[in-house]
Amino acid sequence: MTEEVKRVYAFGKDAQGNNVTEGNTHMKAQLGGKGANLAEMANIGLPVPPGFTITCQTCMEYANADNTWPEGALDTIQSYREDLEARMGKKIGDAADPLLVSVRSGAPMSMPGMMDTVLNLGLNDESINGLIAQTENPRFAWDSYRRFIQMFSNVVMGLDGDLFENAITSMKNVRGAASDTDLSADDLKELVAEFKQIFSENVSAEEYPSLVVDGSVQFPQDPSAQLQLAIEAVFGSWNNPRAVLYRKQNKIADDLGTAVNVQSMVFGNKGNTSATGVAFTRNPANGEKEFYGDYLVNAQGEDVVAGIRNTSPIADLKHVEGLEEAGRELEEVFVTLENHFRDMCDIEFTIEQGKLWMLQTRVGKRTAAAALHIDIEMEKEGLISKEEAVMRVDPEQLDQLLHPQFDKNASYDVVAKGLNASPGAAVGEAVFSAADAVAVTEAGRKCVLVRWETNPDDLAGMIAAEGILTSHGGKTSHAAVIARGMGAPCVCGVEALKIDAEKKEAAVAGTDIVIREGDMVSIDGTTGSVVLGAVDLVLPELTGDLDTILEWADEFRTMGVRANADNPEDAELSRSFGAEGIGLCRTEHMFLGDRKQIIQSFILNDEPAIREKALADLLEAQTGDFYGMFKAMDGLPVIVRLLDPPLHEFLESPRDLEVEIARLEASGTPAAELADKRQLLSLVDAMAEANPMLGLRGCRLAILYPELPAMQTRAIATAAARLKKEGLDPEPEIMIPLVSVLPELETLRGEVEAVIAEVCEAEGVELDIPIGTMIELPRAAVTADEIATQADFFSFGTNDLTQTTFGFSRDDVEAKFIPRYLERRILPCNPFETVDAGVAALVDMGCTKGRATNPDIQLGVCGEHGGDPDSVKTFHKIGLTYVSCSPYRVPLARLAAGQAALAEKMGDHRDK
Ligand code: ADP
Ligand code: MG
Ligand code: MG
Repeated sequence: MTEEVKRVYAFGKDAQGNNVTEGNTHMKAQLGGKGANLAEMANIGLPVPPGFTITCQTCMEYANADNTWPEGALDTIQSYREDLEARMGKKIGDAADPLLVSVRSGAPMSMPGMMDTVLNLGLNDESINGLIAQTENPRFAWDSYRRFIQMFSNVVMGLDGDLFENAITSMKNVRGAASDTDLSADDLKELVAEFKQIFSENVSAEEYPSLVVDGSVQFPQDPSAQLQLAIEAVFGSWNNPRAVLYRKQNKIADDLGTAVNVQSMVFGNKGNTSATGVAFTRNPANGEKEFYGDYLVNAQGEDVVAGIRNTSPIADLKHVEGLEEAGRELEEVFVTLENHFRDMCDIEFTIEQGKLWMLQTRVGKRTAAAALHIDIEMEKEGLISKEEAVMRVDPEQLDQLLHPQFDKNASYDVVAKGLNASPGAAVGEAVFSAADAVAVTEAGRKCVLVRWETNPDDLAGMIAAEGILTSHGGKTSHAAVIARGMGAPCVCGVEALKIDAEKKEAAVAGTDIVIREGDMVSIDGTTGSVVLGAVDLVLPELTGDLDTILEWADEFRTMGVRANADNPEDAELSRSFGAEGIGLCRTEHMFLGDRKQIIQSFILNDEPAIREKALADLLEAQTGDFYGMFKAMDGLPVIVRLLDPPLHEFLESPRDLEVEIARLEASGTPAAELADKRQLLSLVDAMAEANPMLGLRGCRLAILYPELPAMQTRAIATAAARLKKEGLDPEPEIMIPLVSVLPELETLRGEVEAVIAEVCEAEGVELDIPIGTMIELPRAAVTADEIATQADFFSFGTNDLTQTTFGFSRDDVEAKFIPRYLERRILPCNPFETVDAGVAALVDMGCTKGRATNPDIQLGVCGEHGGDPDSVKTFHKIGLTYVSCSPYRVPLARLAAGQAALAEKMGDHRDK
């Protein structure tokens, strides 16, 4: 006997009012997010229309078996359907009093707008009479029927929605009706006939032989057929291209499947005491504690999200006649949900003739600013602990807070205003279709996607665009929800914008301004402003909430966070972000500009006098550089890396020289002058390397040209000595790059120490400058015990270590094949973004070996991985002293390090 698999779970009450729910919120993997939380709401006593959920696993089995049903599944569904009919005291398709249901998808992860819902299922030419009789409202009944045919045809059969919209429009034109609500019962009845005709003409008989009656395709009258087709369509939608793209974008696995919820219908379109809406228990844009959302009176389903009519704010609900009680009850539900889920929730509800019904809830998406604010408030309210507050913040989402804004000092005219739906500012060319957004972005330009309202088909364009601008829809419209999820700026509902997508232009009502395709526009999703032209953008100042959360993270954090910075401005910036030192001060950038000439004359000349002059000039300049750095980081360590890149990076490119020589020749330049150029070319050519990244660079350079590290050390020590004499507290450290064998470090350490001693003598100060090395070659990692005998600290250069461990040249592989590797899942992630397990093992080995011979050694990481939250967690486990990353990643690293320490603490707790 095969093991019984439970494929279907009931939710809601039975005929006697008992809760017969079988699932709960922890069963998202089986029931999907929607199904699990419908069950949970029913369990905590909230009013949920009864129904049942078919599991995600059934979807996957169905999909994996080439869209055929697992044995017995249809029978189980049938018995749950009969059970639902018994609970409701009504039968689907009944001619006297029909039960209508919705068929709703719901995957384990929230995938907004990805899969489609069919409402009013069960209507046919018989049951419509029952609905009319029961409601005594023919208009409502015919409207429900036409909506059903429309949705069923579009979602289940894949017919073009425009076929139906056009029929409605021409009906409205004929009747002189301004909106859908002006159509009468008879008009709608006529539309139903027309819709059925459209169905017959457009559905293929070959594809759906079961729908052929009397020689032609007919709209299915049998409710069982309707139900099965709808469920199969939901299953099928798991693999529709929109869903696949969304999963790829959001790194959601393809094998989760979607559940299907079959739920008895409630109606928000039964007159003025009925309504439908979506809401958040707090403001998802800024986190304020207020009820937030929109509703529409006398409307059904997706009318609110679709932005078809303009909505009213949720707070008004309890003041509207006939809706007061439901409005008050809704506010109680908000509180119940927050206390239960201990988080901000978003909800869908419908009020049917004054009675409130809950149709969906989940922990709501929010902006980064809102996430922090809600977190901190909830900790203060005692709803969550400080640990939870820190753990809840998504480090990647913090990045949103570092998004650009309009420069306050810029002058610009706001041509229109809309809703501030997703924060941050964006500048780009106006484009009017998703395809154009993709094309412009691929051409390397920036764009803002301008749409009446977006829909799931626009997703690729929304991802490509810098920002999104719509003329319709509220803050819970498709554009707003998706943009907030992506962290993309969005201004929506700009009513003054009259968009003509065909002509690719938008007129601003009340002005003679027309925005045409390609015109630069700027939008500010924080204020809702729309500007014609490009506004200068700046990064925002950090909010108090961010400081609070980071301070909390610091309380738990055990690993230090430093910054990589090469100049005093960046050093100060990173200090203001909480960096506890500079983990990597690169010196190569200090040799650009005018200084390039100086170093060139050092490299290319044999004459001692010229070389000495060059070194003296460099010494003076570098002393100034370090003076500024150490001063900015007074009292905190600054690790200076000696010159690292291949020397020819400071020289002219041979190709440019060749071109110049050819040009000079052509213009008859004197031979002497040409000879100089030719001599330079041959020198530069002689220095060219086949593989510079593995060539003469790092400590190898220092060994071949000992004057360079001596000059740099002298500059470092002199700057420190001066600051000391001024009463400050400089803490420089010297780092020798690219060591692979101990004698390299030994040799250079001796030379560096000698120079430091000379400076101390000359300046009359004591300097204690630690000397360490980068571990960025596998040989260094595996012989770290030897190397540690000569090193005060190790700094793992995980960029180079990744290149040399894999044998990857970063510039080549990132452009050429890593994307393919990721697609085919040969690599789990880009190893230059998130540290690879093999590279991490080398770091771990280096630390262990280093500590074995030098217990006091300081261990850090200065590769870009230091700012990647997942890598930070790996480095915490390895037990590094600190990570160092770019200044803007410092807040993320602080948070991630705090979370890593907390995760460890909680893990320990669980072990005990
Ligand atoms: P989505 O995942 O796109 O939000 P939903 O399944 O939530 O899709 O449904 C789309 C719309 O239909 C929502 O507004 C929802 O509230 C409404 N809806 C779904 N089921 C019912 C029902 N049984 N009665 C009334 N409205 C429903
Ligand atoms: Mg939908
Ligand atoms: Mg929904």
